[in-house]
Amino acid sequence: MGCECNNFDVIELQRNDISKRIKETKTLKKKLKLLAKHPNGEDQLYECDKCEQLWQGSYAWNFGNGEYLFKVPKVDTEKWHVEQFVAPDEILIYLAIMDRFLTENRFEVSEEFCKKDHCINKAVKGLNFCLKHHIKSLQNIGTLPQTPSGKLFETYEKIFKKYQAIFEQIIMS
Ligand SMILES: [Zn+2]
Ligand SMILES: [Zn+2]
Repeated sequence: MGCECNNFDVIELQRNDISKRIKETKTLKKKLKLLAKHPNGEDQLYECDKCEQLWQGSYAWNFGNGEYLFKVPKVDTEKWHVEQFVAPDEILIYLAIMDRFLTENRFEVSEEFCKKDHCINKAVKGLNFCLKHHIKSLQNIGTLPQTPSGKLFETYEKIFKKYQAIFEQIIMS
């Protein structure tokens, strides 16, 4: 008897894909072996006994906090304990909210300097800070999502870097 790992694709950064995987996860999980559990209670690392595919289980808080599994590259359990993979829902939500924030608002540079210590950027009109530090302050109070931290891989890394570069361009122009 083979396994079903090959029947599951890499999750696309789309809401439907994540919702679909949440639904499939309960059955899928039964066929996998738990390798490690992160003390944060959020992330788990699983392995398929048959093909040795690794999977990470995470909770998508933006999707009713549903648990879902996604394929991850080979990783040493010890290393995984130190740094988990960024879950696709986290990347999706971060990129979507940042994209909306940066494209729907107009940011004009004023003549004033940013009030952040040692920052030499000009502040955005009507604000105390430059756009970079304005975003940081909104992240600190939770109005904007934190930049995802953790290990990125394959497609997600490419997409994330592409968007980050676009964001940087807007922020620095
Ligand atoms: Zn398998
Ligand atoms: Zn600044």
